[in-house]
This record gives sequence, structure tokens and C-alpha cells, in this order.
Amino acid sequence: MQPLANDMTGDTETSFSAEELAAGDKLFLRPWRFVKGVVGIEHLPAADRPEVAFAGRSNVGKSSLINALVRQHGLARTSNTPGRTQELNVFEPEPGLVDCYLFDLPGYGFAKAPKAKVDQWTGLVKDYLRGRPNLSRVFLLIDSRHGLKDIDREIMSMLDTSAVTYQVVLTKGDKLNAHKLKAVCEATTAVLAKHPAAFPTVLVTSAEKGQGIPELRATVAQLAGVEVLKQA
Ligand code: GDP
Repeated sequence: MQPLANDMTGDTETSFSAEELAAGDKLFLRPWRFVKGVVGIEHLPAADRPEVAFAGRSNVGKSSLINALVRQHGLARTSNTPGRTQELNVFEPEPGLVDCYLFDLPGYGFAKAPKAKVDQWTGLVKDYLRGRPNLSRVFLLIDSRHGLKDIDREIMSMLDTSAVTYQVVLTKGDKLNAHKLKAVCEATTAVLAKHPAAFPTVLVTSAEKGQGIPELRATVAQLAGVEVLKQA
């Protein structure tokens, strides 16, 4: 499969056809709904359909990105309350087009997180990664202003070990100028080359300005198996 990429300056230049972008649009034009919040893997829904997951440090812009994808303000709630229960939040499109799940993994990397909380996060996410043969890809969100941090690299190693394919999505692309965005893209791509389970290219997004959102929708639609209708 062709690596999916968009131009680092914000002028989108992708390997997606108009039809593939249309399939992404279609999937996310449907209303999406919250299925459940899962605190232990015994409560996971059956692994009977394709799914993708979104992971990232708290405050990376994960809820904003999910809400931008589904065009629904407030579907994914911000997870940056340190005391909040760590849950895997599951979403699905309303029935009709294709059955799939979108998982919002709890944010990691609180500066002052107690060890017990970090262990709980690791246990829950490791169990999840181990138990989902239908998990097509993890989108690993990285704040474009900060690039990859040590904690992100630890997560990448965990994903490598679990042999789950993951793709880095840079968030808040609107906060950097084209030159800086290009530099962070190149630095991130160089690191990804050393990780066996990593998708080789990064996707630059901005939930605020919409950059990269059609490409991300098309990627999810592709992974979910949405039929691409060829134009006559
Ligand atoms: P989460 O903790 O990862 O779910 O992060 P949130 O979605 O709650 O976002 C954290 C902060 O970053 C909020 O203040 C958002 O308004 C801001 N933010 C998120 N996405 C963007 C973006 O694309 N551009 C800009 N400028 N700010 C963003």
C-alpha cells in the first residue's frame, strides 16, 4: 500500500484519489455515537469488525481531532482531568454504511501522575493491544510544537512489541509556520524509520483549521473497509 502523506506546508498533496476522499467524507458524514467507556478488557465489545484507535499524551488535541473527524462538537470529551477514571472510549457510526469502531485511548504522560496510575494505564492499554486482532491501526498523536517526547517513544516501543501498526499524526499544525512544521515532520519521519511497526509517513493535521482531516477520514474509511465508488 502507498504511504499516505500530506504536504508539510499545509497544501495537501496526497496519494488519495478523489473517490477515496469521498469515501472518508461519507463515513464521517454519518452521525457517530458513543458506545461505551471500558475500564477493563472484559467489558470490550466483541472484536467482530474493523477498528482503529487514537492514542496520545494528554492535551495533545485528541478529543479535538476526533470531534473534527466526526464533525460533532463534544462527542469525545477532553481527557485532561488528572483524577478522571482511565477508560477506553468506544465510538461507532450509526448503522448503514459500514460497521467499525473508533477507540479513544486514555491520554498518557501527566507530569505528576502517580506510579499506580501509570501502571493502570499501561496494563489497560497493553491488554487492549494484545486482545484485538481486528485493530487495524493506532493513530499516535504528537503535538507538532513538541515533536516526539521520551514518553511517546516508550509508547512506540510498546506498539512495536505488540506488533500493532501505528501511524503518527501531528496535531495543532496551525500553530507552527511551514518551515518549523517541515523540520518536525522530517525529524519524526527519521525516527519512524527505526520502528518496525510504524507507518513510514506522518499525517499533519489541525483540528482548528481542518488541515489533514479529509486525509485522516479517508484513511479510517480505507481501514474500515468503506467501499470506494469509482466515478464514471
Ligand atoms: P486532549 O487532552 O488530547 O483530548 O486534548 P484537547 O482536544 O482537549 O486539546 C487540548 C488543547 O489544545 C485545547 O485547549 C484545544 O483547544 C487545543 N487544540 C486542540 N487541537 C488544536 C488545533 O488543531 N489547533 C490549535 N491551535 N489548538 C488545538
